[in-house]
Amino acid sequence: MDVINIKQLEVFANHGVLREENILGQKFLVSASLYVDTRQAGREDNLDLSVNYALVCDTIRAFMKDNTFKLIEAVAEKLAEKILLEFDKIKSIKLEIRKPWAPIMQSVDYVSVEIERGWKRAYLSMGSNMGDKRAYLDNAIDAMEAEPLCRVKKISPFYVTAPVGGVEQDDFLNCCVEIETLLSPYELLDFVNGIEADNNRERIIHWGPRTLDIDIVLYEGCVMSEERLTIPHREMAVREFVLRPLNDIAPYEIHPVLNKSVGELFRNIVDDEV
Ligand code: ADP
Ligand code: MG
Repeated sequence: MDVINIKQLEVFANHGVLREENILGQKFLVSASLYVDTRQAGREDNLDLSVNYALVCDTIRAFMKDNTFKLIEAVAEKLAEKILLEFDKIKSIKLEIRKPWAPIMQSVDYVSVEIERGWKRAYLSMGSNMGDKRAYLDNAIDAMEAEPLCRVKKISPFYVTAPVGGVEQDDFLNCCVEIETLLSPYELLDFVNGIEADNNRERIIHWGPRTLDIDIVLYEGCVMSEERLTIPHREMAVREFVLRPLNDIAPYEIHPVLNKSVGELFRNIVDDEV
């Protein structure tokens, strides 16, 4: 992706672990690489189609001066988030906060923290088979829309599906949503677990009835297999109730381990049934 670079913007501010740093202040140097598609802006010579780096510099300066953090890690983390929330066209950002006068009683050029953060596309599968199923799914979507660090991009149709897993229970209502998020995979898991809990989800019988189940199906090409979190979701390739709605909103999305598109996976299980 194209990059707009801001190198070593100088800001006098008051971040630091020591009280003296908070009172006296010191010089910070901020560098940012803004990942933006500049093609259209370049072809048309039109600033409205790009990101105004003067405004980004203003945002950096104001943020650095209006806040006081102990750690430059915190400065970097919160500033990256602020810029990503404020400037729509920035897909991701690399941000370096340098402290050339860090009071460590030794001679260094500078100390710095550098991070890279950005919007990640993820797909969530949701299901309910207790009470007002439609209302539980709608609640979940509302909760995602209310979270600034999530943007709901697409919602699939809702499907009534028979339960799997052998437990005698009511039919499910299922759907999938596409989101863009600044949450990491584990933060996203905590976030959706919180939405489940707010909707009276209780984990009583494994694969038993539930008011609301939200699973992370795919997360921006991420592959991880840990006890609390596996991405892509372990069962996605064999679950029609996941693949049917997912195929409606993301048929060309590639499963990063099986290397097959969602459309292909969906056709495979539908074909297996006949
Ligand atoms: P299930 O979704 O399999 O019906 P639960 O919702 O009770 O059952 O989830 C069981 C556990 O699965 C959760 O506590 C969670 O930590 C773990 N898990 C592993 N991978 C994922 C994922 N991709 N999305 C959601 N939960 C996951
Ligand atoms: Mg689940």
